[in-house]
Amino acid sequence: MINEISPNIFNISLLSRENIRSEEQVLCYRGGRVLMKNIGDKFIIPKKNELGEFVGDGIFLGEVDGEKCFMAEGKEEMPQGFSYVGMRDIRGQADKLSKWVTAVGFQMYSWLNDNKFCGRCGNPMDLKNDERALECTDCKNIIFPKLSPAIIVAIKKDNKLLLAKNRLHPGTFYSLIAGYVEAGETIEETVKREVMEEVGIDVKNIKYYKSQPWPFSSSLMLGFFAEYDGNNPIKIDNVEISHADWFDADSLPEIPNMDSVAGEMIRIFRDNIEV
Ligand SMILES: [Zn+2]
Repeated sequence: MINEISPNIFNISLLSRENIRSEEQVLCYRGGRVLMKNIGDKFIIPKKNELGEFVGDGIFLGEVDGEKCFMAEGKEEMPQGFSYVGMRDIRGQADKLSKWVTAVGFQMYSWLNDNKFCGRCGNPMDLKNDERALECTDCKNIIFPKLSPAIIVAIKKDNKLLLAKNRLHPGTFYSLIAGYVEAGETIEETVKREVMEEVGIDVKNIKYYKSQPWPFSSSLMLGFFAEYDGNNPIKIDNVEISHADWFDADSLPEIPNMDSVAGEMIRIFRDNIEV
């Protein structure tokens, strides 16, 4: 059966600056990378006592399995046995929980890093003490963590599924049609618009399936199933999509793995699972 794809990893709390205790976990970021402890070809999240003076105070992010987890700015030089790893390179070499903790931590790190100053008056922002937000030290402008909702849709026609190859993604895999929700739009309208823009067809019987946070792009993916409608043939936009076609369950191309809601939805079609 289908895996749970995005465990609610943080017991969400207020962000606060604190001294990190020796046994507590530390997520140190530099640019798009996070510091991991290397054990053979596996990565695990380091603890404060393993990093010693290499890491100072941190921002408390929340609890993971009852253990406090912090975020800190990492120095370039780190002890032997630790290295900065690209966010996407962690995927095959860490357990599921660690992958999500580092990814959601990265989303918070990016948000803090991108909002050091107030966009309204230019003064420094600081952690708000009664909400999970930033507040301007001068004009009191409040900034919440950025979330960009996006739809992803599995379109069926008879016993076939529409899959598309994205021009911007490296590799050879095919996936579902996806796109960001625009201001003023319902998510059902986004489904219809994105499908028409990218592959030139109409859809009907749009049914919500489930959501998945996608911290790498600060997105919240909203998964839908829908059916082909009308008579239009597929007409790709040649901007985001380089190829799209209808695929039978027994002749699918390379598809995303089960880390993503797209991978899960394609397998629901393939295995003819009732949802
Ligand atoms: Zn301000």
